[in-house]
Amino acid sequence: MPELPEVQTIVAQLAPKLRGQVLRRLELFDAKLKDLDVGAAEGRVVRRITRLGKRAVFELAAPKSGAGNPVWLSVHLRMTGRLIWSESGATEAGRPPRARLVFDRGSLSFFDMRRFGILRLCRSLDEAAPMGLDPLAGDFTPQALESLLGSSRQEIKPWLMRQDRLSGLGNIYASEILFSARIHPARTGASLTRAEIRRLHAATGRVLRRAIKYCGVTFSDFQDSRGCIGSYQRLLGVYRRAGERCRRCRATIERVVQQQRSTFFCPRCQA
Ligand SMILES: [Zn+2]
Repeated sequence: MPELPEVQTIVAQLAPKLRGQVLRRLELFDAKLKDLDVGAAEGRVVRRITRLGKRAVFELAAPKSGAGNPVWLSVHLRMTGRLIWSESGATEAGRPPRARLVFDRGSLSFFDMRRFGILRLCRSLDEAAPMGLDPLAGDFTPQALESLLGSSRQEIKPWLMRQDRLSGLGNIYASEILFSARIHPARTGASLTRAEIRRLHAATGRVLRRAIKYCGVTFSDFQDSRGCIGSYQRLLGVYRRAGERCRRCRATIERVVQQQRSTFFCPRCQA
């Protein structure tokens, strides 16, 4: 499932292609999307594309300035969603997309094999924004993290994946951030010292920024908008490395299950 760095990669790739283009048609091929108000989106100009948590959000402005408020098309890829840009109009062999955004100079297809992805048209940016704090936003400070953690009795690894707290982390980066911060995934939020919270905060920014630099990771279902492979995989410290040696201390990486999800960690350097 794409997480914050993968969505950021998609947004960075799409923005220069789509900015200033008119959305000629929004084609829907899935009955689950039938409530989308296509007419409110078509004919508008893409003003900017931003990432909010794990969502890519397209700001669609009225074609003439002063002719009304923009609307925001929010795309959440969830499990298997992919946004593939094509200038030739060619589509991928096999399954059709769930939706297609047609522009003058190409089209953007939304493929989503398991159909959990969410496409929404919002009347304000607030409506498009997720509930949790964005871990790359300026207001994500050590103090903000400390107050979010509060007296949480939840284990820190599943806590990091709660989208109502922090928005954008999933299974891969939650494991990687805890490895980087040298914090055991089964610790509770309430048990973390102030120094550990500072480490966790710093590791969050460090891991996410580095992953963005390398265009994230690509496993079976996720592809970026060009269908390319991110290269952060080879830099992963623990994720899917059970049985292999820790890059820091040479101990054997372990895998445990927390809330039905695999967690990977080093039993020696994460305390
Ligand atoms: Zn280690």
